[in-house]
Amino acid sequence: MWIDSHCHLNHTKFTPEGGVDEALAAAHSAGVLGMLSIDCLIREEFSGLLELVKPLENVWCTVGTHPHDAGREDEKSVSLEELISLAQSDAKVVGIGECGLDYFYTHSSHEDQQDCFRKHIRACLETDMPMIVHARDADDDIIRIIREETDGKGMRGVMHCFSSSTKMGHEALELGFHISFSGILTFKNSEELRSFAQDVPFDRLLVETDSPYLAPVPFRGQMNHPALVVHTGHVLADLKAVSADEMAKITSANFFKLFDRAKLTA
Ligand SMILES: [Zn+2]
Ligand SMILES: [Zn+2]
Repeated sequence: MWIDSHCHLNHTKFTPEGGVDEALAAAHSAGVLGMLSIDCLIREEFSGLLELVKPLENVWCTVGTHPHDAGREDEKSVSLEELISLAQSDAKVVGIGECGLDYFYTHSSHEDQQDCFRKHIRACLETDMPMIVHARDADDDIIRIIREETDGKGMRGVMHCFSSSTKMGHEALELGFHISFSGILTFKNSEELRSFAQDVPFDRLLVETDSPYLAPVPFRGQMNHPALVVHTGHVLADLKAVSADEMAKITSANFFKLFDRAKLTA
């Protein structure tokens, strides 16, 4: 059994044939039995996302503001108290994010991104829920802000779609974070990433698609969907010198330990 620890089921239709039902069927036949569908917009997206996942078995969601949208007035109007209450509003909500810093695109100012990131960290500490971090070209500020907000103690969470430096990866591990590998791990030019993956302890590994984006090799350029997490999982298994079945077990167990509100049914 594989778990896709990060996808966006509501972002677009998922397969050339159709939508979420087809994606779930394809996932089940590939042995991907659970998935976490990640929120990017609290005001515009969260309630629809929650409605989408509510009837779906073994599909959970999160609540949070993507760093791209941290400067939007409607997202800035979400108080810490409101974020906390939304995070605790339904058993299907099992984490907070995705949040973080993206200085590659800088769709929102650095200041707005940092304020928003701090708000999410505080919500996680208040609720003891895990945080889903999006980090791009902002390694030093990500680590500095987490250290500041947690008095250096670190916290529960995941560096999603990890593609930062090896140095930042080790700092994140020291702060207690899990590392989630996406299809980027399968790309030809991801040598540094593959070498870092070999350093990550087994009990901190997760896999994800970030679908519908970032399809792994050999599907690069096509629509990504949760079933394809298996391809990233196989590459990770080879790097860590274990069987694919073993890697599926390890990453699924890690998922349920980190996202401890997610309960597998049937
Ligand atoms: Zn992201
Ligand atoms: Zn995402």
